[in-house]
Amino acid sequence: MKRDLRDELIRQAIEIRQRAYAPYSKFLVGAAVRTASGKTFLGCNVENASYGLAVCAERSAVFAAITAGEKQFECMAIATQGGSMPCGACRQVLSEFNPDLPIYIVDVENPDKIVEGNLWDLLPGAFKLDEKGKSKKSKVQGPKSKVKE
Ligand SMILES: [Zn+2]
Repeated sequence: MKRDLRDELIRQAIEIRQRAYAPYSKFLVGAAVRTASGKTFLGCNVENASYGLAVCAERSAVFAAITAGEKQFECMAIATQGGSMPCGACRQVLSEFNPDLPIYIVDVENPDKIVEGNLWDLLPGAFKLDEKGKSKKSKVQGPKSKVKE
């Protein structure tokens, strides 16, 4: 991705972070996902008094894109205080659509330092089902995993 497009995606993630509804954790997150058609979809985290109902910014952005009919994701920018990586649930949701998704992580207190990652590195061997609902065997195992056949 061109640097100016990347920087624009990061800027949008930082901006949308301000709309986060996080009265309990005070941890604001913004996400911007770029689709193959050149559109950008934004998401922020939304918490709830029933804590388990909270939805992360990354999934909010993905769900907005899916709602608009977009399924091909090219990259995502995520803005937090401290430059946090996406949680496990979001990694799994993102891997459904692009297991190799490039991810740009920005710490809003140090926005010039961008960490560029890739979903494959964050979630190797993601859970997958084929079109018939059967589990696909993962080709990747972590360095410490041992599978007995
Ligand atoms: Zn998450």
